[in-house]
Amino acid sequence: MKKRIYLSPPIYGDQTILSTPSSINVYDGIYKDIDGFEKIVKEYLNTDKQVVALNSGTSAIHMALILAGVEEDDIVLCQSMTFVACANPILYQRAKPVFVGSEESTWNMCPEALELAYLECVKKGKIPKAIIVTSLYGMSSNMDAIGSFARKKSIKLIEDSAEALGAAYRNQKLSTIGDYGILSFNLNKIITTAGGGILVVNSIEEKQKVLHLATQAKSNLQYYHHDTLGYNYRLGHINAALGVIQFKELENNLKKRKANHKFYEELFKHISGIYVHKEPDGHFISNHWLSAILVDPSKTGGITREDVRLSLEKDNIESRPLWKPMHMQPLYKDYPYYGNKVCETLFENGLCLPSGSNLTDEDRQRITTSIHTIFNK
Ligand SMILES: *Cc1c(COP(=O)(O)O)cnc(C)c1O
Repeated sequence: MKKRIYLSPPIYGDQTILSTPSSINVYDGIYKDIDGFEKIVKEYLNTDKQVVALNSGTSAIHMALILAGVEEDDIVLCQSMTFVACANPILYQRAKPVFVGSEESTWNMCPEALELAYLECVKKGKIPKAIIVTSLYGMSSNMDAIGSFARKKSIKLIEDSAEALGAAYRNQKLSTIGDYGILSFNLNKIITTAGGGILVVNSIEEKQKVLHLATQAKSNLQYYHHDTLGYNYRLGHINAALGVIQFKELENNLKKRKANHKFYEELFKHISGIYVHKEPDGHFISNHWLSAILVDPSKTGGITREDVRLSLEKDNIESRPLWKPMHMQPLYKDYPYYGNKVCETLFENGLCLPSGSNLTDEDRQRITTSIHTIFNK
């Protein structure tokens, strides 16, 4: 069996830590602490806002909801086409998600569906407290429309940019546009801290509040004193040290991911019924975290997404259907959803293709052969 080609594997260069505990001392010396990682991220994002390093993107979303004032029974408008980690913190707060459908161009939150969802909530007597918008696979949402709607209605906008480090909208890095933004450094993301997240907040005061809550809400006293419910959400320092090293690879990884995307555009150019997801116009800069396609069986001569996936799998090449929308999940089926059928179609026909920063020419050749075999080219 040929070696497996993975969707988006973590890549640790030679210089990285991981194996021996003794190497901790080395990094302790070079990169003092988590502050160093935060500084690098803040500089990279090119923002006056503050960043807080946490132990996951999920905990960053949870903290963002708390900063946005989301409490029990509050409503949060949430993109349905996302990963479950985006929506779960709404339930951690005992608040209620209302799911919003996607638009065809970005695959992200549809501005019209957002307005409809809002109006329905208001009709039922409840003004939503926050909006969570995801930048799926590193593609920005239509931030002009969604941002101005959120401002007009005074609703806090949270950007789930977990997949979008390095991506931008109108030259502004994603995660710095909304009221709060989050990034993830999970194993499969574009760079990794072997688990970790960043929360982008507006002020030092907000940062301090998050630091307090993320470290068990321990007051600054000699004895253990807790005025409120806290969490153990701070990023570990070894993870932060790894993050500092990984950031050096970011530009390179972005180039590699973009090259992957180009490769797939070429590969599918002459295969009818396949759409390769891409930026709608020049305002969008995707990081191409994952390259994804839609397979339209009515135009491929009956070949479905699942046919493509299984064929690749036979050649030991990993691919995955797009995220299954939240409103179709057993966990969330009883919460309202506003949108047309775009999400459903994306789930039915969408496939993420191998997009690792380490994809080689040989891997590309294998993928090409496999795809040509399916489509009889
Ligand atoms: C990865 C991801 C998260 C969660 O990040 P973790 O660091 O794994 O907790 C949240 N939202 C989306 C859209 C993601 O892809």
